[in-house]
Amino acid sequence: MDRRDFLKVATVAPLLATVGAATDAEARHNLPPLPEGVGLLYDSTLCIGCQSCVAKCQEVNQMDLNPADSLHSKNNYLSPFSFNVIQVWQNGAGINKDQIDDGYAYIKRQCMHCVDPNCVSACPVSAMQKDPVTGIVTTDPSLCTGCRYCMIACPFNVPKYEYDDPFGRLQKCSLCNQKGVERIDKGGIPACAEVCPTGAVIFGKRSDLLREARQRVAADPGSEHKYPVKAIGSGEFNKTSIPHYNQEIYGEREGGGCQCLVLSSVPYEDLGLPSLQEESFGAATETVQHGLYRGMFLPIALLPALLYGWLTRRTWLSIGGGKAGNKHDETEAGNE
Ligand code: SF4
Ligand code: SF4
Ligand code: SF4
Repeated sequence: MDRRDFLKVATVAPLLATVGAATDAEARHNLPPLPEGVGLLYDSTLCIGCQSCVAKCQEVNQMDLNPADSLHSKNNYLSPFSFNVIQVWQNGAGINKDQIDDGYAYIKRQCMHCVDPNCVSACPVSAMQKDPVTGIVTTDPSLCTGCRYCMIACPFNVPKYEYDDPFGRLQKCSLCNQKGVERIDKGGIPACAEVCPTGAVIFGKRSDLLREARQRVAADPGSEHKYPVKAIGSGEFNKTSIPHYNQEIYGEREGGGCQCLVLSSVPYEDLGLPSLQEESFGAATETVQHGLYRGMFLPIALLPALLYGWLTRRTWLSIGGGKAGNKHDETEAGNE
């Protein structure tokens, strides 16, 4: 082993070993679902696209009109003016509801209130917060610095920033439970669930919503199903004929799980819901970040590498490698 190889081994090996050890020591797993965590179940097959939920959401949350639209319900994308939109997927002629061939389907887009939210994990000032009991994810405008890390971190592209406002805030669905709109804290239910005429979106504990969703998925297509409207336990019911559901419940596992769940008869990817690994992004990124920086592991690990760089540069300069016109290849040769 010559001097160059020795220096490489002596610097890179401790770096890798230290980073590896630090990472192992700090591996963090997905946060578990909260026992009292609440959310929504949106069944795309029951949605008629009326957008009552969109208009009521904007009214209850006292949102400004989007200057680009003349009507609340014309919004078809999430924005600082709309926490909740109903989008339409269409294929071919788009005439068969909830079918692939010449079909169409609706999808409600809003914050999924992730079980282990990456926006909370990414926010450097804890302006994004997850309630320890309900699991509802909210933003605190008094803490938000406008860095917009949460926008990049969210796998569902949900948080929106008020770019046109010099004092812009970060906006997203709070499950109707933010300051000034405390519907859940006051024993109410989210506005979108309250107004939905078909029961396509219902409110409840995540565990109860999952049970209801599993019943629908397990039922025979064509069989009659009596389901709760507005909320689990509301005492109000509708009946439907079970369609050919996707056998997976979207949000049960994706990205560590969500408190807002989706059922559909067309592939979730077609509706714009991303395929996500079961490990939450927060677990994946915090494992690496915390491992590297805990106890100054990274700076200590980098020290030999910096020393190696300094030594080789010093040698290079001492033989004239720093002068203009000298090629690195020549320096390498001269250094051997
Ligand atoms: S959907 Fe996005 S904004 Fe909502 S909790 Fe999950 S990561 Fe946060
Ligand atoms: S829970 Fe409230 S804020 Fe969220 S989409 Fe429904 S109405 Fe809008
Ligand atoms: S109110 Fe209900 S049926 Fe109407 S668009 Fe919203 S989720 Fe669909």
